[in-house]
Amino acid sequence: ETDVLRKPKWIRVKAPTSEGYAATRKIVKDKGLVTVCEEAACPNIGECWEKSHATFMILGEICTRACAFCNVATGLPQDVDAYEPGKIAEAVFEMGLQHVVITSVDRDDLADGGAQHFVDVIEAIRSKSPKTTIEILTPDFLRKGDAPNRVIDARPDVFNHNLETVPRLYLSIRPGARYYHSLRLLERVKERDPSQFTKSGLMVGLGETKEEVMQVMDDMRSAGIDFLTIGQYLQPTRRHAELKRFVTPEEFKAYETIARAKGFLMVAASPLTRSSYHADSDFAQLRAA
Ligand code: SF4
Ligand code: SF4
Repeated sequence: ETDVLRKPKWIRVKAPTSEGYAATRKIVKDKGLVTVCEEAACPNIGECWEKSHATFMILGEICTRACAFCNVATGLPQDVDAYEPGKIAEAVFEMGLQHVVITSVDRDDLADGGAQHFVDVIEAIRSKSPKTTIEILTPDFLRKGDAPNRVIDARPDVFNHNLETVPRLYLSIRPGARYYHSLRLLERVKERDPSQFTKSGLMVGLGETKEEVMQVMDDMRSAGIDFLTIGQYLQPTRRHAELKRFVTPEEFKAYETIARAKGFLMVAASPLTRSSYHADSDFAQLRAA
């Protein structure tokens, strides 16, 4: 069995050693910023940081949820840092980013789930780097009423929220979340502002079937979701959700073909695809098209 789950060759990545990587690391450290690249121990960090593509994580490093696949610490979160929007905006400016991805932990403890802080970050980036396109990867804002409307009205270029897995596996993989609530969040974005791109993603290798993945694709298209990412789940530690199998590059290719046929504008499906992987270049391509 250990043989089956040994990392296949298509998962291996090179160690981060480039100058570009060091430069990104320095800005992140100097500004005291948190990145999901580090928190999630993302395998693409060498490649992304070399090209100054990082995903900033706002609202602290401690999450009120405990998703079974996620490496972020769970507990009582810190106070919201009022200087964070300014610090992120400076980093985006210094790095000269054309596209930035902002995500956060879940803040069920805050009355608005952190919505206003997302707005503050978007506005701070806009005022310092008006040409930079902004992609947000948000929590689900479960039981936060109209809070997401504030975020939608700040008009990010891409509104991303990951469904992560198929509905059957929610109870074990995403116990604090509700599949239809997450889907509905993205549908609300489209209803309120049809010009905003919506995006969602799935991890595979958790025991889902191909039919279930295709059903999720259909649900996403019914909710008007534009972009889709699919990547291999990697088990952060033994305590996390069990990795059932490695999906082959050929299977990913097949998912990509199916997803394109279903009408997604942009599809990224490969073993190392992450929600924010190549988000900058993919979005630039789409806008140029
Ligand atoms: Fe960071 Fe996303 Fe790149 Fe991973 S794929 S290193 S999370 S930007
Ligand atoms: Fe991780 Fe997000 Fe789940 Fe929190 S809500 S445990 S950050 S995946």
